[in-house]
Amino acid sequence: VVILQADELYRFYRSGEEETRALRGVSLNVEEGEVVAISGPSGSGKSTLLNCVAGLDDPDGGTVRISGTRVSHRSEADKARLRARLVGVVFQSGNLIEHLTVAQNARLAQGLAARPDLAHLSETLDRLGIAKLAHAWPSRLSGGEMARAALAVALACKPVLLVADEPTGELDAGNEASVLGLIKDQACYGVAVVIASHSAAVRRVADRVVHLADGRVA
Ligand code: ADP
Ligand code: ADP
Repeated sequence: VVILQADELYRFYRSGEEETRALRGVSLNVEEGEVVAISGPSGSGKSTLLNCVAGLDDPDGGTVRISGTRVSHRSEADKARLRARLVGVVFQSGNLIEHLTVAQNARLAQGLAARPDLAHLSETLDRLGIAKLAHAWPSRLSGGEMARAALAVALACKPVLLVADEPTGELDAGNEASVLGLIKDQACYGVAVVIASHSAAVRRVADRVVHLADGRVA
């Protein structure tokens, strides 16, 4: 079953006379339970691609479908609603709001979905090994704890697609392997996973590696 279907994506950034062609016809399909790594040098378009497939940014050309629903080229309100129902996003810097605890962050993420599910939340924290950090403040977390908390928040609304941009960029090798293992576990539950990373460790957990160069699949 194809979860993510990105067809012929183009994304150009314009500022004055300058135009950066960040994506130039990138297509990507990801199946249920599949882990795909996006590799490529800095500036090759990885973040741009992830932002487009997560529905955070609209491509200038091409379409993105998640579970058959087009998420590109809709109103911001529609996109926010679809993201809350379908997509979990993890960024390198974490994606927690500072003045909310880990559990409150996750509940906020769920609040955008149809109905909050507190049992799912505590089970997720437990599975990620951070049950005792439910009421911790983000600023007090270590790097490894923050990466797990960010993953918990991303999973709070039971996404069919998990998108992670350098999720282990700031971690030591031990934490990196463990967080990647936790991300890979999500695929066993049927989630389609897309991870952008420079790291060789990510390529080892991936079922498939898509290499980007200059905005194209190499
Ligand atoms: P990474 O290599 O980890 O993707 P980047 O440094 O390329 O990180 O980008 C970090 C953020 O800055 C991204 O949100 C990206 O969209 C933005 N960005 C990157 N290059 C530019 C640029 N030339 N002008 C404005 N924003 C940029
Ligand atoms: P990567 O994630 O592989 O480092 P990005 O997608 O961040 O690549 O960037 C691809 C290209 O687009 C780079 O040349 C970058 O400078 C440019 N870019 C990214 N975001 C922006 C932005 N918001 N405004 C202008 N240029 C950008």
